Amino acid sequence: MNTTFVKSATRLEDLPQGKKPHVAMVGRSNVGKSTLLNSLTGQKGLARVSSTPGRTQMMNVFDVDGRYFLIDLPGYGYAKAPKALRNGFAGMIHDYLWQVQQLKLVLLIIDARIGPTDLDREMVEYLASGTIPVVMIINKIDKLSNSEAVNIVRHLQTTYPNMTLIPHSSVSGKGRGEIVQEMEKAVRANSTKENKASE
Ligand code: GDP
Repeated sequence: MNTTFVKSATRLEDLPQGKKPHVAMVGRSNVGKSTLLNSLTGQKGLARVSSTPGRTQMMNVFDVDGRYFLIDLPGYGYAKAPKALRNGFAGMIHDYLWQVQQLKLVLLIIDARIGPTDLDREMVEYLASGTIPVVMIINKIDKLSNSEAVNIVRHLQTTYPNMTLIPHSSVSGKGRGEIVQEMEKAVRANSTKENKASE
């Protein structure tokens, strides 16, 4: 994956326009979203962009192979953010998820050791009320023992039977290939549809 940082934006109008598909990443702050971005792209410098003060509450846009955009949405539940931002998926995240037509897949990242927090659960329900496919990434899986990992995956599978779950660790690289596969699938489905429409 050849990935480059495009820009940070606070308004939908400032996002790249055009038909290129988007894959978005959402999750609680500190869940390891920036590190995941590095792990997926194999480029260490990228995470620094997403964790630069001032940019953590913005939509950070990355171009992947000139084919699609990866959008790192602001982490929710950020302790220092105003309450409205912390609780409601108000403002930017809401506008993005509900209005961007190019959005093809949401990667919802949770912390394996903490499990889904109340806000994560709200986010799952919130996303389920829309039509965009969601993949849940059970992150930092290296922090659990094998049996703990099996238990949390089993528990989440029972709780969310229709959701694709991928245990992932940026430390070991576990799950990386599966995440990339899911992104490729979503993006390819999109280009196939577009080819058909233009035939
Ligand atoms: P963000 O706020 O969601 O962007 O989170 P960061 O990517 O900055 O990560 C928060 C902390 O979790 C950092 O100390 C990372 O080193 C750590 N971290 C991220 N991913 C992993 C992982 O897969 N395993 C472990 N053990 N730690 C991780």
